[in-house]
Amino acid sequence: MSESNWAGNYSYRAGKLHRPSRLEQVQEIIANAPRVRVLGSRHSFNDIADSAELLSLDALPPDVVVDHEADTVSFSAGLRYGELAEAMKAEGVALPNLASLPHISVAGAVATATHGSGDNNGNLATTVAGLEIVTSSGEILTASRDDADFDGLVVGLGALGAITRLTLDVERSYQVRQRVFEGLGWEALFDNFDAITSTGYSVSVFTHWTGAVDQVWVKSRATDAPEPVRGDLFGAIAATVDRHPILGLDPVNCSPQLGAVGLWSDRLPHFRMGFTPSSGLELQSEYLVPRRHAPAAIQAMRALADVIRPVLQVSEIRTVAADGLWMSPQYGQDTIAIHFTWKPEQDAVERVLFDIEGALAPFEARPHWGKVFLAEAASIAPRYERLPDFTRLVDRLDPRGAFRNAWLNKRVLGRR
Ligand SMILES: Cc1cc2nc3c(=O)[nH]c(=O)nc-3n(C[C@H](O)[C@H](O)[C@H](O)COP(=O)(O)OP(=O)(O)OC[C@H]3O[C@@H](n4cnc5c(N)ncnc54)[C@H](O)[C@@H]3O)c2cc1C
Repeated sequence: MSESNWAGNYSYRAGKLHRPSRLEQVQEIIANAPRVRVLGSRHSFNDIADSAELLSLDALPPDVVVDHEADTVSFSAGLRYGELAEAMKAEGVALPNLASLPHISVAGAVATATHGSGDNNGNLATTVAGLEIVTSSGEILTASRDDADFDGLVVGLGALGAITRLTLDVERSYQVRQRVFEGLGWEALFDNFDAITSTGYSVSVFTHWTGAVDQVWVKSRATDAPEPVRGDLFGAIAATVDRHPILGLDPVNCSPQLGAVGLWSDRLPHFRMGFTPSSGLELQSEYLVPRRHAPAAIQAMRALADVIRPVLQVSEIRTVAADGLWMSPQYGQDTIAIHFTWKPEQDAVERVLFDIEGALAPFEARPHWGKVFLAEAASIAPRYERLPDFTRLVDRLDPRGAFRNAWLNKRVLGRR
């Protein structure tokens, strides 16, 4: 297999890529493979998904089933959010939130605690109500919220087995509108941080770490009170044309703005399904910081602006609500997410990350599992109080270490 991840900054070393079309084949491949992992849609920026053998689940039948009584949707775990949303449309149901792009696989997003934004929105893994997993013995295990260890199974980092089926909470379909405000000042952001992040259902602050913050993207449910269209948002003015978060890029691949109401799945992601998300030529890093440290952590990044800017395309600040999932960066605390879309220059990015991780260390920042970061297990461990429980779960479900890989050993377990 000579293929790379979406960003092209990592070439998988796996010798084989399996594409089973039946659950029994998944069981057989896993039971017979010395080392194996599931490959999702390859949107992670590091070696988290690699192994000697890889398994893609995208040939399994989607089998989307909406349970209107239980308010859930169940489906085959290889599905991408865009495909799932399309199937849900016909049933009139919706998910509470999405990430910036609909192209990612649901199981891969859940495994890495991928998130969108919103003061009251948990990360995407928090909607998981149940799952089916093939463990390294080839056996099928099912679990739901009532089961012991469920909170450890969901954000599994690909280490516990192959998730073959997921059940997510749904609600009645809803409509969303999106507006971009431009020219927010730094003082305005610090003085009104809570008011700004609660202006909409999901709020993203984009910055290039220059003299002013730049854009605020506000996504509101159509039934929410209107934003200040003609006035301003703490000094930021409503844009009169569509914008791309990265200055100078054509907004054609962005979801519609200017307050035009549309389906939840067409507005919550920043980028549209049929188009390249973001810039397409980039690396990404992101750090999740306890919300109480928001102003100080953002100021710490401003102090590094001269180091950050030469390799930066854009930064985004979002808010994510606390949860109880053991390996979630939101475990036990509301967070802000400080994100960096970098130019595709791995070495230069890693040099800047050394400074960023140093500056964010006093705030106990947790790196996004799927993006580029430097921290290793020894510094990550004290930030995850349920890590010992997770390690026991890994050893219990996968005693022969079939799903263990170099990334997990180095970044999480601290083993060779
Ligand atoms: C352009 C772009 C925009 C992004 N925007 C956001 C964003 O808005 N918010 C955010 O939080 N992140 C974002 N990300 C990061 C992305 O969501 C994560 O990296 C996510 O893990 C990608 O899912 P994937 O299916 O591509 O995973 P992969 O990279 O393929 O795999 C990631 C991990 O999931 C495991 N995995 C995948 N499927 C299964 C399965 N069925 N069973 C068990 N384990 C499995 C893999 O083994 C691996 O450990 C973005 C990435 C890109 C490229």
